[in-house]
Amino acid sequence: MLELKHIKKYYYVGDSVTKALDDVSVSFRKQEFVAILGPSGSGKTTMLNGIGGLDIYDSGDLVIKGKSTKEFKAADWDAYRNNSVGFIFQSYNIIGHLSILDNVEMGMTLSGVPNEEKKKKAISALERVGLGPHINKKPNQLSGGQMQRVAIARAIANDPEILLCDEPTGALDTETSQEIMKLIKELSKERLVIMVTHNPDLADEFADRIINFADGKIQNDSNPYTENEAEDTFKLNKTKMTFWTALKLSFTNLRTKKARTALTAFASSIGIISIAIVLALSSGFQKQIDKTQANTLAQFPVTISQTASTQTGAASSTKEKKAPKSKQVTAKLSQAEKSVHTNKISKDYLNYIKDMKPSLSKNIGYTYATGMNLLTKTNGKVKSAQFSNASSNTASTGMSQMAASTGVGGSVYPSTDNNGKGFLSKHYKVLSGSMPKNENEVVLIVNSDNSTNVNGLKNIGIKVKDGQKIDYSKIVGKEFKIVSNNNYYQKNPLGTYSPNTSLSSMYNDSSNKTLKVAGILKVKSKSSENILATGIAYSDKLTQDIIQMNKNSNIVKAQKSSDTNVLTGAEIDASVSKSSLVSYLGGSTTPSSIMIYPNTFDNKDKVLKYLDKYNKGKSKSNKVIYTDLAGQVSTLTGGLMTAITYVLVAFAGISLVTSMIMIAIITYTSVLERTKEIGILKALGARKKDITRVFDAETVILGVSSGLLGVIIAWLATFPINAILKSMTDLSNVAQLNPVHALILIVISTVLTVLGGHIPARMAAKKDAATALRSE
Ligand code: ADP
Repeated sequence: MLELKHIKKYYYVGDSVTKALDDVSVSFRKQEFVAILGPSGSGKTTMLNGIGGLDIYDSGDLVIKGKSTKEFKAADWDAYRNNSVGFIFQSYNIIGHLSILDNVEMGMTLSGVPNEEKKKKAISALERVGLGPHINKKPNQLSGGQMQRVAIARAIANDPEILLCDEPTGALDTETSQEIMKLIKELSKERLVIMVTHNPDLADEFADRIINFADGKIQNDSNPYTENEAEDTFKLNKTKMTFWTALKLSFTNLRTKKARTALTAFASSIGIISIAIVLALSSGFQKQIDKTQANTLAQFPVTISQTASTQTGAASSTKEKKAPKSKQVTAKLSQAEKSVHTNKISKDYLNYIKDMKPSLSKNIGYTYATGMNLLTKTNGKVKSAQFSNASSNTASTGMSQMAASTGVGGSVYPSTDNNGKGFLSKHYKVLSGSMPKNENEVVLIVNSDNSTNVNGLKNIGIKVKDGQKIDYSKIVGKEFKIVSNNNYYQKNPLGTYSPNTSLSSMYNDSSNKTLKVAGILKVKSKSSENILATGIAYSDKLTQDIIQMNKNSNIVKAQKSSDTNVLTGAEIDASVSKSSLVSYLGGSTTPSSIMIYPNTFDNKDKVLKYLDKYNKGKSKSNKVIYTDLAGQVSTLTGGLMTAITYVLVAFAGISLVTSMIMIAIITYTSVLERTKEIGILKALGARKKDITRVFDAETVILGVSSGLLGVIIAWLATFPINAILKSMTDLSNVAQLNPVHALILIVISTVLTVLGGHIPARMAAKKDAATALRSE
């Protein structure tokens, strides 16, 4: 059955050599009860461990059922221990955190015996050793004798051919020893039992054969045997622990140390908590910044006007200027005048703007400097009206208004919107009436305190004084007529044109366009005030319609071919150019300004780049210069936030590394603590891999729970953090934990923990089984 051939096992400690086994040769029968007697330190345990494959010999050969073990690999030894050998130790070596049944089943668990069969075999083994009634107890509720019975049940559960007992009664009283010996004696009838003892009486009473040991050598053998089994009849069934078993083993172990596990998980979650909070805050702040950016950009679009300034901030020089010696004065353009640039907003340029990527801007607004011939009826009387907020003495005629370059009055909002969402409904809410449905409906814009300019109201024919309150109903539904140039202006005998004086007949002309105030709108938030001035606002489509109506009118034709102002008969001077007169009369389809509303600062930069590209290679006068008001507000915020986030994440990362080191320490301590368990598992046939798995499983449990805990604590922390921020800065819900971030953090926590714990786990696996079992 078993044959030891010249087995040697030396231990080297420092300079001294211990010959624990010194050329031992002996054979064992298939069925006998062998007692190995000898003084302490004579090498008995070393031989037993060598036979059991817990400790591999240095030289010689161990032949099992005719098979030499010289070529055995670690996996073969593992399988041999699991399939063929059962161990019984002096100190029972029951795994304390597992139930009795789990302990007995462990060997079969390692070899992957199906649950049903495993349980049946375990119960029958427990019944055989007389523990039937105690199956449901915990190991720490058993007496020493009962513990040893559990160990015996575990050893025989898989029905091994060899039972190895190392002083099985060494820790028991005489009476219990007798009972245990009787049990072992009975088991020896079916298999080979080798028992190490230093009690000669027990050996004499129970053993079939006694081998005396001293100084690593056999001194005497009461019943020698010569092996003649030449044929190799050895078969092995490799063991394999599933990760699930490892997980269960670790879980029950952690459960016995609840407080410590909870503390460890909490401590290692701190890294996760800090990163989660930093991420929650920074994405919250980023959202706030994006919102502010969008609002800023809504107020300060990129503007292309007919004139722009090329002046840069540091234009004025402080250099002392010398006066000429001669008695002369020098005519000079001022710095501001020099920097005036006239933009040629050509068809080409308009098409270039149209071709811009729609995703870059929320919308593009076009303003036309065209006047409107507006009439309205107040108390049955027809009066001329204005959409401007200028006081009536300066706004008495369209011309003087234009000469003062206040434009044509009223705010223009873009009728098209790239995002398909109305510009108005984005920034405004309806106080009364409705949003305009088409270009023939205009709206009154009011401030957040419901105020609007008094002159603006007077100019549309509502009689008010400063501070007076007007019912919504007096404004909503009010109608205006737009009269075409040909009806509005009449040619005087001298060749100039002047407005018709019979307002009511003009008012009733069927060719008029009718406008209506559709509603009163108020800004949604204070930050978007000033997007449109208070007063009447209308669609840019309306101005285009008016241009269509008037561009071929008589007065436009006359103005185009005249060098004098056809309304006043005065010569055209520098302040009012001919083209602006034509534009005012509706004779030009070129917008006076273009406003581009990007949605983020990043996109604004792209818009500017796109606009700059148009100017490339063009002569100075053909360049189109834009004004970027928002650019002067802030280009800092975005990048600054990103930088701060990086710094904070780096700090939080340090705490994460600290947690990882801590996990490694905890796992290492756990390895030290569970050395004995590692030995037991190895004796039962666990592979190195299985041991690594047990500890990896433990770190997975720790990693997942600390990740989960961290995310939950961070999430809970966002509530007080938001409350504090709200009270300090008026910003609400800044800290928001992104679920995707939370999930990633749990994964990171698990991966880092497993990495941190894997090295100690590998160390555990490398532990020598025999040494592990000797440890206390
Ligand atoms: P016994 O079981 O007869 O008491 P052992 O087999 O335990 O004896 O030990 C035999 C000798 O080998 C002893 O001198 C012991 O100190 C030594 N020994 C056992 N294991 C080791 C080890 N891992 N390292 C060094 N010496 C060892």
